[in-house]
Amino acid sequence: MTHPTDGNCIFCKIVAGQIPCFKLLEDANTIAFMDINPVNAGHALAVAKGHWPTVDVIPADVLADVAKTAQKVAKAAFKALDPHGINLLQANGEGAGQSVPHLHIHIMPRVKGDDVNLNWEQKPGDMAAIKAAYERLKAAL
Ligand code: 5GP
Ligand code: ZN
Repeated sequence: MTHPTDGNCIFCKIVAGQIPCFKLLEDANTIAFMDINPVNAGHALAVAKGHWPTVDVIPADVLADVAKTAQKVAKAAFKALDPHGINLLQANGEGAGQSVPHLHIHIMPRVKGDDVNLNWEQKPGDMAAIKAAYERLKAAL
């Protein structure tokens, strides 16, 4: 697998060893390291080695490799850090809060009462609106 790179991308620089990181593990298609702006202790990132910005353009097998790496880190976090929970989060596009356009999955250990703002209250949806979105999505699959 050849890895596309972008010379201006911070994660490509980390993959190339041009910028240091606290590296947790590395394999053929992925790398995992600590996030430098952690939301909680142990916040880490599973990152594709190649520069694919978002979920819609990355090859499916590389995405699977990134997910496997995220699982390894999450298992280690459950074992070593004893968090109350862990969120895996993957953002695509600025509107989703993505700040580094190089695909990655956050491994976020959670502590009850932390002020991490990821969870939402469930409110019943409008069935007609759900069906309308369903029909557009289904037609695109
Ligand atoms: P995003 O906002 O794209 O979902 O997540 C990007 C993450 O990369 C952020 O949580 C940010 O703290 C982290 N980050 C940005 N620059 C660096 C860096 O130079 N080194 C490391 N280790 N993490 C970084
Ligand atoms: Zn990159």
